[in-house]
This record gives sequence, structure tokens and C-alpha cells, in this order.
Amino acid sequence: MKYSSLILTLPVWMETFIERFTFPLPTVEARMRFVIAMALENIRRKTGGPFAAALFDAASGDLIAPGVNRVVPLNCSLAHAEMMALGLAQQHLDTFNLGAQGCPEVELVTSAEPCAMCSGALPWSGIRKLVFGATDADARAIGFDEGAKMTTWVDALEQRGIAVTAEVCRKEAGEVLREYAQRHGVIYNGRVEEKSPNRGDKPEGSCRT
Ligand SMILES: [Zn+2]
Repeated sequence: MKYSSLILTLPVWMETFIERFTFPLPTVEARMRFVIAMALENIRRKTGGPFAAALFDAASGDLIAPGVNRVVPLNCSLAHAEMMALGLAQQHLDTFNLGAQGCPEVELVTSAEPCAMCSGALPWSGIRKLVFGATDADARAIGFDEGAKMTTWVDALEQRGIAVTAEVCRKEAGEVLREYAQRHGVIYNGRVEEKSPNRGDKPEGSCRT
């Protein structure tokens, strides 16, 4: 299957982790605290980067799909938390378009402001609402290169029918980033020699040759 499959997985702890919470989560703050707890679990168990996201039925607060960052363990730069949650939700609901007729109104709650890749992916996904916690500046402060983003990215999403709510529980979300940096978590930018203060124990970006 060398040339015909791509497999992305969430950590094995996810199933039991989710059982600790009672859904639906009625408020946006409760949804964000669930997402922040997932990000913290991800770094403490060393199963990925300091980011988590989840898709909810916006009206009810039911969980549709969780996601955590899996870039380093899966050796996949696509495996940001938002992308994992979006892909899992689309598989669960059996549609590439989460805005399709018959889908609930879908809200993406993410522990940090989406990077250039993820914010670009949102209009493709069909979601209607985005909620984020920590800011782009918070992620850049510990060394992540969030990519080239338009300063008008929020307006651009809203013009495409995606409402954006910023900085929900920003302080708690930012604490996960700072804890990751204190733990010397890998800062997995593509240009590692230029950008990464933390190399970790694996020379990230090194190829199997
Ligand atoms: Zn991203």
C-alpha cells in the first residue's frame, strides 16, 4: 500500500478521555475547556503538539469529532488538530461538505487561532462557526511559524458565511503552549534550522534514507 493509502490516527487515549466528559456542552466556554483539556492531555502523554480542536453541533453542543495535533508522531505536516477534527467529522457524517443539507450547523472550537493552512481549509469544509482560544501571537511566541496569513482573514471567512469568535479562554489556552515550551516539546516548523529553538530528542525533519 506504499503508494495508495494515507492513514491518520488520533491517540489511543482519546476514547477513554472523552468518557470523562458529559455531552452536550451547552456553552462555548465549556466546549473550549474540553478542547484545552485535550491539548494538555496530548502534550502530557507526548502524543503530539500543544493544539486540540473539536467539532460540535452548534445548537446542541453535542460532540461530532475531536482532534489533536499529530504532526510529529505521524510524520505528517497536515496533521494539525483542526484538520484531524474536520476529516474525522466528514468521515463520521459521510460527507466532504459539513454545510450540506441535512448536516447540523457545525462549529469548530480550536485551542489556538488557525494557521495559514487550517484557516485556508475552513471554507472548503462547510463549517459555519469558528471559535478559537490562544492567538496567532501566542503560538508564534513559543516558536511556531503560523504561515503567511492575510490580516483580513476573519473578514474573509465571515464573507464566506463562517462566523468567528476570538480569544475564548485565551489565558488557559495559552498556558498549554507555554507548558509545551517548558517541557521542550518539538517546535516542528519546516525550516527547522532557522526557526526551532527546541529540537527535541528526534532531529525532526530528518528523512529515512
Ligand atoms: Zn493549522
